[in-house]
Amino acid sequence: MTTMTKQEINFQLVERDSKVVLPENLVFGRNFTDHVFEMDYNAEEGGWINPTIKKFEDFKISPAAMALHYGQAIFEGLKAYKQDDGKIVIFRPEQNFGRLNRSSKRLCMPETDTDFLVEALKELVKVDQDWIPTKPGHSLYVRPVVFATDPFLGVRPGNTYKLFIMLSPVGPYYPEGFKPVPILVTDKYVRAVRKGIGDCKAAGNYAASLMAQREAKEEGYSQVLWLDAIEQKYIEEVGTMNIFIQFKDEVVTPNLTGSILPGITRLSVLEILRDWGYNVSERNVSIDEVVKSYEDGTLLELFGAGTAAVISSIGKLKYKDLVMKFSDTEAGELGKKLYKEITDIQYGRIEDRYNWLTYLD
Ligand SMILES: *Cc1c(COP(=O)(O)O)cnc(C)c1O
Repeated sequence: MTTMTKQEINFQLVERDSKVVLPENLVFGRNFTDHVFEMDYNAEEGGWINPTIKKFEDFKISPAAMALHYGQAIFEGLKAYKQDDGKIVIFRPEQNFGRLNRSSKRLCMPETDTDFLVEALKELVKVDQDWIPTKPGHSLYVRPVVFATDPFLGVRPGNTYKLFIMLSPVGPYYPEGFKPVPILVTDKYVRAVRKGIGDCKAAGNYAASLMAQREAKEEGYSQVLWLDAIEQKYIEEVGTMNIFIQFKDEVVTPNLTGSILPGITRLSVLEILRDWGYNVSERNVSIDEVVKSYEDGTLLELFGAGTAAVISSIGKLKYKDLVMKFSDTEAGELGKKLYKEITDIQYGRIEDRYNWLTYLD
């Protein structure tokens, strides 16, 4: 793996002739900043080359680029925040770039220098800092991507790749506030199978999930809850979030069996809950256990955890003909408490006691 320093980054900055004006209502993923960070990989030229911060514009790629044919494409998602006192922070970027490397490895793609990417991201956010929204619940979403660029139609790992990081100013995931969402348990489709690539943020996993998502929407549900691919018995994830269940005496999230994406929000929730003294387990949870505890009144709440929404409370869960109802209006207590704790850390309203924040210096 090549190592680089931030001094090697080539800055090709665009001149703006006016100030950045952010749209009044920021929809997720629709607005992009002026610049991207890019670098290329070429095995014959010794690895990663040409780290550059440049204008956000269309790429030119070959119709034969391997990623388009065989799916060697991975990504990440994280956020930067402008705190109340103007300080700019990025939430746990070393975790995301570490996970990017784990995805790379699994898909036979080249690894990168995590420390360098954190530095490169800091430089990029600094250049486009006027794009960071400051309204409550707003942030700058960061999307790193790596994909194979070789023009070649044989199936083998690529020899050339592009890595880029783009930035998107975003509003709160739930503009109407923290409301519970209805979820459909699917036993008709599976997202990922153990020993496959479900534990990587690989583009193909999302293509595999679209049909279930569409059918859930048609039934009036906002997301699906995925069961394991072998028996359709154990719960795995909710949409693109990890899931937590609060039983009377225990808070549980499924253990990482290989088909579950190891979320960084999941990790943060586990650390906070253990700190708060909850009895927390990472273990298999069957959908039958969820149904049974719902029926005997020992299931208190369910919520999803992921970067985009942070915490998403589940108000209703449909499995086969059974509709389990929690609340149409009020998010669960534990979910609300965790949402507040994590966002308070991100926005600098409480101490960063776990050292999760990377400050721009
Ligand atoms: C990204 C993602 C998550 C959440 O991960 P975070 O690091 O918390 O954002 C969970 N499940 C899937 C399938 C994901 O793609």
